[in-house]
Amino acid sequence: MQPEREQISPAIGRVCQSDAHRIEHFVNGQRSAGNSTREINVFNPATGEVIARAVMATRADVGAAVTAARGAFYEWSAIPAIKRARFLFKFKELLDEHRDELAALITEQHGKVFSDAQGEVQRGIEVVEFACGIPQLLKGDYTEQIGSGIDNWSLRQPLGVVAGITPFNFPVMVPMWMYPIAIACGNTFVLKPSERDPGPSLRVAELLCEAGLPNGVFNVVQGDKEAVDALIEHPDVEALSFVGSTPIAEYIHAESALRGKRVQALGGAKNHLVVMPDADLEIVSSALIGAAYGSAGERCMAISVAVVVGNIGNELVKRLAPRVRALKVTNGMDPEADMGPLVTAQHKARVEGYIEDGVREGARLVVDGRGVSVPKYEQGFFLGGTLFDEVTPQMRIYREEIFGPVLCVVRVPNFKSAVELINANSFGNGVSCYTNDGSVAQEFAHKIKIGMVGINVPIPVPMAWHSFGGWKRSLFGGYHAYGEEGVRFYTRHKSVMQRWYGGSSGGTEKGSPSFNMPTV
Ligand code: NAD
Repeated sequence: MQPEREQISPAIGRVCQSDAHRIEHFVNGQRSAGNSTREINVFNPATGEVIARAVMATRADVGAAVTAARGAFYEWSAIPAIKRARFLFKFKELLDEHRDELAALITEQHGKVFSDAQGEVQRGIEVVEFACGIPQLLKGDYTEQIGSGIDNWSLRQPLGVVAGITPFNFPVMVPMWMYPIAIACGNTFVLKPSERDPGPSLRVAELLCEAGLPNGVFNVVQGDKEAVDALIEHPDVEALSFVGSTPIAEYIHAESALRGKRVQALGGAKNHLVVMPDADLEIVSSALIGAAYGSAGERCMAISVAVVVGNIGNELVKRLAPRVRALKVTNGMDPEADMGPLVTAQHKARVEGYIEDGVREGARLVVDGRGVSVPKYEQGFFLGGTLFDEVTPQMRIYREEIFGPVLCVVRVPNFKSAVELINANSFGNGVSCYTNDGSVAQEFAHKIKIGMVGINVPIPVPMAWHSFGGWKRSLFGGYHAYGEEGVRFYTRHKSVMQRWYGGSSGGTEKGSPSFNMPTV
């Protein structure tokens, strides 16, 4: 079954400029308008205005990008890894120079606070830095004399054309989890960024070009489901990396696997933060405010559930509520902003729908972020911080990913029930536990069925040389993103056994067939 995509209505938005800036594809080293007559509006979510129109790729447009990538693969993969790394060193320099420009583009199309967008670019750059070490990462293993006169070595080779399909919430960083490592390994790449904030990917393609990357090694197709399906079905696409919501991750994993493709599909999340009775509540409330409301909760590692153990619930909620009310919600370019708008009017309406549901199902709405009015930005897609207490595991606001500035407090009697609650949840991306007891922390890290675990760390996103990924319905496929898992995903392992007759090291047995399993 193919899940339906939320449609971005061209009718929404204060200004619908017919001559708005056009966001196109980037194929074979240049911008391309493609063949499509279909375009969608891209908004500045702080103002509600249409700031650009993005062209939506047809199957033929995707085909052109894959052909360009296929054409570049042979030469690119033959370049020594150290030389490929040098393009990335140059790219990294350009990223440093253009960091604020990229961050401003993110804020303009996504809405997040500018300093947060700068952090996003920085975390992406760290993956580029990691990929610069590719000669070391691709180094194989060698065993001399596995048998008489036979040596054995293993190596990793690139796959060919690989594709990346990415979500709206990190338009620079998430693609950077993929293509720097993929191209460093010798693959060529086709990126299909989110259609909601497609601008930064195009700018990144230009920077890669400026870094001297040969044409066709990195391509961008703008589009939606039509482009994604074309990538999945294209016989020359060897592997797909996906990051986005769980239903789409599951769909992409299933469809790609059916066609024999390698696929990693990272999905949605419901991340819990356990507050043990011995935790410092001042520290915990700061951690929760940042982790739940940063980027307006539009992070796959945002904390959306505080699991309060024992009888400290009232005290914690008392400390949280005024801080949630005090969050400064405005245009992300305002240096005072704590939280920007949500990405689209539809997404805002969806999150408001969850708030209504929570009230209907009997959760206690402590702070209601609906109806917030932001001076000078009355048409923006803003929602204030929202806090629910007395949430139960049966409620929809607990079970489903809301992906907005909504924190749910669930109260449990003891540590065991906190662990059971989290392990029973269908998502398994990130989790955190705040405690002063080392043995509790140790047991938590051991027992919890979640991919990324923080102990007194609210958002445990691994650094570039570790790997990122969840468990359960937060990741489909066998590989996590970036780090050494990324290198493994974008390469095939090969093992070579070699013998030369006539040498002095034992390769002397000529001509006699052996019908037995070779042993030493
Ligand atoms: P999304 O699933 O709507 O879209 C992601 C990508 O899939 C986009 O490029 C989109 O064009 C494409 N797509 C959407 N519908 C499709 C369909 N029916 N068929 C084929 N392709 C389709 O996700 P989003 O709203 O852009 O991003 C938010 C989601 O991403 C959240 O669920 C969040 O948790 C998740 N996310 C996960 C991680 C992680 O590492 N696990 C990181 C970031 C975001």
